[in-house]
Amino acid sequence: MKVYGDKEVWLVTGSQHLYGPGVLNQVAENSQLIAAGLTASNNLSIKIVAQDTVKTPSEILAVCQAANSNPNCVGLILWMHTFSPAKMWISGLRVLNKPYMHLHTQFNAALPFAEINMHFMNLNQSAHGDREFGHISTRLRHDRKIIVGHWATDSVQKQIDSWCRVAMGWYESQNLKVARFGDNMRQVSVTDGDKVSAQIQFGFEVHAYGLGDLQEVVDAVTEEQVAAQIEIYKKEYDVAPIVLSDAHQFQMLKNEARLELGMYKFLTEGGFGAFTNCFENLTGLTNLPGLATQRLMQLGIGYGGEGDWKTAAMVRIAKVMSKGRAGGSSFMEDYTYHFGAVDQVLGAHMLEVCPSIAAAKPKLEVHLHTIGCRNDIARLIFTGKAGPALCISLIDIGNRFRMIVNEVDTVTPPQELPNLPVAKALWEPRPNLEVAAAAWIHAGGAHHSAYTQGVTADEIVDFAEMAGIETLVIGEDTSVRNFKTELRHNAAYYHLKDGV
Ligand code: MN
Repeated sequence: MKVYGDKEVWLVTGSQHLYGPGVLNQVAENSQLIAAGLTASNNLSIKIVAQDTVKTPSEILAVCQAANSNPNCVGLILWMHTFSPAKMWISGLRVLNKPYMHLHTQFNAALPFAEINMHFMNLNQSAHGDREFGHISTRLRHDRKIIVGHWATDSVQKQIDSWCRVAMGWYESQNLKVARFGDNMRQVSVTDGDKVSAQIQFGFEVHAYGLGDLQEVVDAVTEEQVAAQIEIYKKEYDVAPIVLSDAHQFQMLKNEARLELGMYKFLTEGGFGAFTNCFENLTGLTNLPGLATQRLMQLGIGYGGEGDWKTAAMVRIAKVMSKGRAGGSSFMEDYTYHFGAVDQVLGAHMLEVCPSIAAAKPKLEVHLHTIGCRNDIARLIFTGKAGPALCISLIDIGNRFRMIVNEVDTVTPPQELPNLPVAKALWEPRPNLEVAAAAWIHAGGAHHSAYTQGVTADEIVDFAEMAGIETLVIGEDTSVRNFKTELRHNAAYYHLKDGV
């Protein structure tokens, strides 16, 4: 069973009737072998399913319509084994509403120099068949991925898998529902935005609930359920002994178990993959959820603090895209800086960082929380695992959305931070803090981000292309001067592209 279960990507091979049934039979057989070879490969996290070779405009239209209506198909790989005159593809590509990738490959790898004849050349002519096809994609102004190389190599298979993961993220975006408990933090700008435009652009829905709706479900959690949940906490985390021995601290832990189980029930029964809350909207709850929110993220649910529904959606999408990979994904906030030999960012939040990014088994402790509301709150404390990561910010800039990505390198802190009772990660932005923070701020990026060690910047670029929005990557090659020019050029491009 693949990581993505029943979901599949279709391999659609284009040809035409010019070559006769012998060639077409061989084309169909080769397509089946490629799909089977890709599915069998450990490089692929999803099933690749070959469709019948398409040879006419009506067959192309039919397979595109079938893809649109098939709930398990998340995208298409298109490949021209022979020549497939591209006007035949116009009607199909115009109705296709799933993402497609153009695989520029060939069934055989090596040329059989001693035996090659015209029959072989006619059978294996993707070198020009794919160029004819690519012309019509470009003519239709379709942003798409083009992967070039022999399909059986690790390099090409990993690129195919990477795109399929993005297609899964896009599928998730189309089907995602985000629950908001309360509203955005008052007066905060970047976490707000146009939810109607977001649904049109990304597909995901954002629904608000009063705290009373949640309180009812939380209050219905039984003492037995709470006790069972605490046993899970004892297994998964290093629970400080005082949390279990001190009656007040133990009550704080029980509060979190109740909040976690109540929110989980509310979210799963409502079909929500992500949620937001805000410390300003807690009426009826015991406290701002700490451990509870961390646990829900660990279970794969997206989260954004202070009503940040865009980041909540991106955390969920990053978790789907990286499913089965080693790196975790979390809600994150640039919190404070270390200016030193290498400038660093200490990322954290008041409480809500996902243990999927932890370097070691998290500690579970109760500490006084003083921001916005004053409560003792149980929370997981850990440090983020060292290694490359991304900070992703999706913002609404008034007339459109923008995705900003900073490639960073998370490092192990030089010493313990014994007085900081929250989960955190220390990272060095690429190319350096001076350039990265200036570029991020020029772009209007949020203080919140979806932090991930399971997704690459190229994958976020591909996701943004599927959504039809701008992406700005801040990485090794970024300079502020060029970045500002890119912002100006993009402003003109998207103004023209999106029209009136
Ligand atoms: Mn925040």
